[in-house]
Amino acid sequence: MLKEEFLNEMKNLGGIDYEAFVRAMQETPEISIKLNRRKLTDPTDIGYDDPEPVIWCRSGHYLSSRPIFTLNPLLHAGAFYVQDASSMIYEPIVEELSNRGLLPSAPLVLDLCAAPGGKTTSMINALPDGSFIVANEVMPQRVKILAENLQKWGYPDILVTSSPTSKFGALPASFDLIAVDAPCSGEGMMRKDEEAGRQWCPNLVKQCSTLQRQILSDAIAALRPGGILIYSTCTFNRQEDEENVEWMADTHGLEPIDLELPMEWGIIKQINSDLPALRFMPHATRGEGLFVAVVRKPGVTESRSHAKTIADIKKKTRVILDGIPKTIAKGKMEIPASQWALSTRFPIDDYQSAELDLDTALGYLRHEAITLPSNVGKGFVVVKYKGFPLGFVKNIGSRANNLYPSEWRIYNSSLRSQQVSEKNRQ
Ligand code: SAM
Repeated sequence: MLKEEFLNEMKNLGGIDYEAFVRAMQETPEISIKLNRRKLTDPTDIGYDDPEPVIWCRSGHYLSSRPIFTLNPLLHAGAFYVQDASSMIYEPIVEELSNRGLLPSAPLVLDLCAAPGGKTTSMINALPDGSFIVANEVMPQRVKILAENLQKWGYPDILVTSSPTSKFGALPASFDLIAVDAPCSGEGMMRKDEEAGRQWCPNLVKQCSTLQRQILSDAIAALRPGGILIYSTCTFNRQEDEENVEWMADTHGLEPIDLELPMEWGIIKQINSDLPALRFMPHATRGEGLFVAVVRKPGVTESRSHAKTIADIKKKTRVILDGIPKTIAKGKMEIPASQWALSTRFPIDDYQSAELDLDTALGYLRHEAITLPSNVGKGFVVVKYKGFPLGFVKNIGSRANNLYPSEWRIYNSSLRSQQVSEKNRQ
């Protein structure tokens, strides 16, 4: 049940078909997945029936029902990511910015509010090789899943940090692209998540708007002159959306960029504002509520060397993950890290590998010892499912010892608990 006060706010928002909006808020949310473009391009390889394209994102596909994603080893191989379709707009936005020459050929990118990694993985899909991505998440309990998801996505030029945004505001202005997918009052999540509806109150909107301006001030300071900022929320009110874009333009002189996306995508433009922005409204687009605006910091500077900025970040922030590890220490030895097998630069031909059937692959992901076919040699072996690497084992013949990261293991549990745990990981 949506709160009366919230519905009144929506009625007064203007610029939308209110009756259609209320009807859409009662409908069941869509289920959608995004392919990892550096790992595969054909959605049928994932194994779900009749995937239907998301019109604004070539990597996005709707599914007709919700499978238990955890039981598909390709999720753990980082071949796809479960994500609301609206959020996938980050991929075509970054492509459009590159095509219009608004980003350097190998940009330095900061995702300031990154967990669990939906927008980061979308940007990685769109960015060329050579780009470097810093993904930050201040909440310690959320940064772990961010680091896990990014290792599975496999793009190696990444740094995961967990610091307040002020640490980035204090760095020299050096990022070419910064994403602020801000903590918000979550009005656009209400049909997917009842808790968002229960928590909503006018004061929350006010608090979020203040926090967003603090985060945006830090982002603007960290952006190099000429750099681009993508600001998004999953909420509908103007205070957290258009008014924050107006504030960035008026107070910091940022220049909004009109993305001119095709009309048939159904994306609504800004409400009651002269500045361009995109609104995904559930009655007009197939996805949850999302607001996105793109702004540019005036001026021009040459991109600073990535290495210098990254060295500064490592000194001043709490680093959780510095690239994808190739090896891990085991006693006095260094042995291959399973994470390395998930990297998009993993040289698969340098290792022995073995294809697993579904049951054995799930056993491997539960961190069980498995048995490989007798023709597989002893030593370190990459195990694969449908050709996608999952990690390493050490084959000793009678069995293969499991080297999958124990903190990533999946559990043999009921359908209901799998679904709850999946929801928490998205
Ligand atoms: N970008 C993510 C994605 O697409 O998967 C979702 C980000 S979510 C909308 C906002 C994030 O901001 C949350 O992970 C939350 O923990 C984080 N956050 C909360 N308070 C914050 C603060 N004061 N400063 C920066 N980030 C904060």
